[in-house]
Amino acid sequence: MSDVFCSEIILLFPEKFLQVQVHSHFTSDNLLLLSINVSPIALLNLVKAVKMVQRQPEYPNNPYFCKQLFNNNMLMKSILLSLMFIATLNASAQFDKFFYNKTLRLDYVHTGNATSDAYALDELIEEPYWGGSKVNLVSPLDYGNYKFTVTDIETGTIIYSRGYSSLFSEWQTTAEAKETFRSYPENVIFPFPKKPVMVDFYNHTREGEWFKKFSYRIDPNSYFIKKERRHEYPSFVVNKAGDPAVCLDIVFLPEGYTNTEMEKFKADCARLADFLMKCAPFNEYSGKINISGVLAPSIESGADIPGEEVWKKTVLNSSFYTFDIDRYLTTSDMKSVRDVAANVPYDQICVVANSQVYGGGGIYNHYALFTSDNAYANYVFVHEFGHSFAGLGDEYYNSEVAYEDIYNLKIEPWEPNLTTLVDFDSKWKNMVTPDAPIPTREGDKNKYPVGAYEGGGYLTKGIFRPSYDCTMKSLSYNNFCPVCQKAIVDMLEYFTK
Ligand SMILES: [Zn+2]
Repeated sequence: MSDVFCSEIILLFPEKFLQVQVHSHFTSDNLLLLSINVSPIALLNLVKAVKMVQRQPEYPNNPYFCKQLFNNNMLMKSILLSLMFIATLNASAQFDKFFYNKTLRLDYVHTGNATSDAYALDELIEEPYWGGSKVNLVSPLDYGNYKFTVTDIETGTIIYSRGYSSLFSEWQTTAEAKETFRSYPENVIFPFPKKPVMVDFYNHTREGEWFKKFSYRIDPNSYFIKKERRHEYPSFVVNKAGDPAVCLDIVFLPEGYTNTEMEKFKADCARLADFLMKCAPFNEYSGKINISGVLAPSIESGADIPGEEVWKKTVLNSSFYTFDIDRYLTTSDMKSVRDVAANVPYDQICVVANSQVYGGGGIYNHYALFTSDNAYANYVFVHEFGHSFAGLGDEYYNSEVAYEDIYNLKIEPWEPNLTTLVDFDSKWKNMVTPDAPIPTREGDKNKYPVGAYEGGGYLTKGIFRPSYDCTMKSLSYNNFCPVCQKAIVDMLEYFTK
């Protein structure tokens, strides 16, 4: 909103309804920013609130048409904020128009190799809670290797969308994917629709475009939508902030905790929640973050370590040595992960593996996975949560990570904390420390807290990170750089509306 410097508000006053259009002359000749219908009373109150009456002498004598040009930034911002408030009220009504307060889950199988992929439907499942926002339904962010949209068939309106990434997309960049095909179970969730919808799945291409790969029509009244629950367990509260619709809801899932270790799981959750609440910028939002846990026991304690021939019977089937990297701990059993998470309303899934071994993994809008008892558990948790919650990329570049050509250096990566400098304006250029040269030399790290330091995203050349150091770069807890902090705050605001 701060980018709107010179704008125009047009108020059209037909007899039955009012349409407000906000246009900007800043980014293009006449870009329509907002168009909403509001009640005459709501608009009258709005107009009074921003003291438009003083500036508009013909009002209300000419109730059919009036047009004003404003150059007053403060006034513009007040009006825009008020309009956004009204738009928010409208959006809330949209939720009740299109959705029930519960979840529809679409399970599918993602199959392919390094250069091709295909989606195949598995099953549809009804889950009892909806933990997401009822206002922010269509995501404005272009993060993720994939996205899906839910379209109301009757009106052709997109009523829900979300970007995400998955283990499959990472596997496609490994050497193994050049030699063979593999399948990964994946799933997406959205509020349960009241009327028939079309779900469309898109891939983010290497050129940065969205390409539609798969569509599936859903009749919400179909008796094939499964209502049985495979993993029903009791839950407990770790941190209670408020209504799930206006809070970020994190669920901790236990992995490799036996029935007799559930008290340990509760204590681990309390300790981990404390790590998050004391880490900036999450510490500013403790009153807006609900955290719960699900008491789902495993038959055996620990996690699989294939490289050491350790195999454990656990509820979520997690394993170290993902892509043959010893510390990379993930699970591809997304059906069990979602089954267990569905015992509470949630936005974000965190899997706590009962182990002292160093390791973890985090995938955007998929899950964060980390161990409970490693000496770096505080760091690993918030680092992996940076991936899964805010879509942050790794800022390190000297590791054994096995990805090949993961970034196309001819375009900007979608991760908010990495840049190729191809279009730096679209990244954090407006946050750079004044006078900092771009790129920024490492020797100037104290002089320029925010610049563009070369090295990041597993590459030493061609990718740049915002600060010399950050929780997304090194083993450092409570050390998110200013750009990562802003990306996290933006996401917190998105989830808590
Ligand atoms: Zn950072």
